[in-house]
Amino acid sequence: ENIVEIKGLEKSYEKGNIKALNGIDLDIKEGEFVSIIGPSGSGKSTLLNMLGALDIADSGTINVAGYDLSKNKNLDEFRSKKIGFIFQLHNLIPNISVVENVEIPMFEGKLSSKDRRTLALKLLDSVGLKDKAKIKPTKLSGGERQRVAIARALANDPSIILADEPTGSLDSRTSKKILDQLNKMHKEKNVTLIMVTHDMNVAKLADRVIEVLDGKILKSTDNSLLNDNI
Ligand code: ADP
Ligand code: ADP
Repeated sequence: ENIVEIKGLEKSYEKGNIKALNGIDLDIKEGEFVSIIGPSGSGKSTLLNMLGALDIADSGTINVAGYDLSKNKNLDEFRSKKIGFIFQLHNLIPNISVVENVEIPMFEGKLSSKDRRTLALKLLDSVGLKDKAKIKPTKLSGGERQRVAIARALANDPSIILADEPTGSLDSRTSKKILDQLNKMHKEKNVTLIMVTHDMNVAKLADRVIEVLDGKILKSTDNSLLNDNI
């Protein structure tokens, strides 16, 4: 079953002078791990922003997890219930503790403060950071911060995780750890994972690699059989 259905999606900036998305058609199955790759300026982040309802398209249709995002309705509810974000720039809040950062997405739900804390510690444990729960994110390495961001993205039990260059500023050893974490949670929770990257070595770990150029999909390559055998 498709969790994402996109048809003819277009988005321009600067009063139409910059065409960021130029007719995107894309279906993604529930539980799929998809990477979106392309050079700088090709429209990857714009597409990811549309998927997370952080921005609205000019034309075309986009359905994600049962929400019609082109209708501009219930988008706050959609974001807080369905999506976990791992964005490089929108990162952790520096002046509250690691565990409090992980609890942030839970405030939309119905958990008591005690249950929020228990769940946040469990999520931190799953990314190997339970012992850092009480310290501030500024004391963590880049790799550790990104693992906190993964724990936080899982906090609202999302249907889809959107990750924008999750390994962007990290060395290759740390990148591998982060990608292992992402893969683990994708497999264990059967969550749909959509990851933007400019690095083919990272992209090809996904079930499917979508290549974007000039706001269009150039090519879609199925890797699922290949990766299952590794
Ligand atoms: P990528 O993520 O592949 O680098 P983007 O989606 O960020 O590409 O950008 C696609 C195009 O849209 C680029 O030409 C970029 O400069 C432009 N663009 C993106 N966001 C904005 C914005 N908020 N205002 C104006 N132009 C934008
Ligand atoms: P990783 O491989 O997870 O990125 P690093 O090799 O960068 O880890 O860091 C190793 C250790 O050094 C970590 O336990 C981290 O807490 C600590 N560390 C890294 N950067 C900083 C920093 N800016 N301030 C305090 N401690 C740091």
